[in-house]
Amino acid sequence: MFLDLPLARAVLDASTPERAHPELIAELLADPGTRTLHMDAEGGIAVDDEGLVIGTIDGPREPGQIAVFLGRPLRGSLLEGDAYVLLIDEPIEGLAYRNTRATALALTEPERGLAVAASAIANWHRFYTHCGGCGTETNVVNSGWVRLCPACSTEHYPRTDPAVIMTIHDANDRVLLAHASHFPQKRYSLLAGYLEPGESLESAVVRETLEEVQLRVTRVEYRGSQAWPFPRSLMLAFDAWVEGTPEPIVDGEEITEARFYSREELARAVADGDLLLPGEGSAARGMLEEWNGAPF
Ligand SMILES: [Zn+2]
Repeated sequence: MFLDLPLARAVLDASTPERAHPELIAELLADPGTRTLHMDAEGGIAVDDEGLVIGTIDGPREPGQIAVFLGRPLRGSLLEGDAYVLLIDEPIEGLAYRNTRATALALTEPERGLAVAASAIANWHRFYTHCGGCGTETNVVNSGWVRLCPACSTEHYPRTDPAVIMTIHDANDRVLLAHASHFPQKRYSLLAGYLEPGESLESAVVRETLEEVQLRVTRVEYRGSQAWPFPRSLMLAFDAWVEGTPEPIVDGEEITEARFYSREELARAVADGDLLLPGEGSAARGMLEEWNGAPF
């Protein structure tokens, strides 16, 4: 069974066949049924005290603005309107723009789903402005989902960086938690790392575990995934097992501490304030709570 990870919640039907229609954005931006989200060029998203600023149509687009058709509300999503368009532009006076990661994790559905979708595509536009083949600045086409190079005609599609994250189990039904040197004090999480070119996901789980704690994984099972568009990752969740009850060995630089915890030991460490769990909304938190059988 797949894991039910906290950010894996689709609230929009991407309605991909519509994207190719060259006038789609113009038509949607003239339609009072359309709802807009706003982001600035630095990746901030417009919010107010209530949550995301979800606008109605407020006039013609300015030149230079990027508009992305995000899709149409899925039935049961509780979203209003007929269609959602993301506008990426200079900040609009009177609106506050906040970091998408902090914003998305603080929101509840369905706005969290909107913020994840908006952040994912906006961060691609932000970092992939030029053709990787010839260096020319590309044009946004296909309702915001393709960047076309005017010089060499290469079509560039949105990019996502796959990362593996794993719950490593020992023979005593304990799981491995590690403290990375860049974490806040007392924060522990599961091991994770980016997939390298040419590697399979399973190999990445084995390699990262060996590199980070010198343990040999003998079995790997895929569990699920969620977008982590801060700025551009896809987290792929695995269960992994080591034989026996080996001691992890850390390098003291990237990872400064690691050990296996039973459910009771983990609950006690959290209750005593000796250990801070991964943040709400993260894949690691969802995976640990699933192993625990209950939220912490
Ligand atoms: Zn080119």
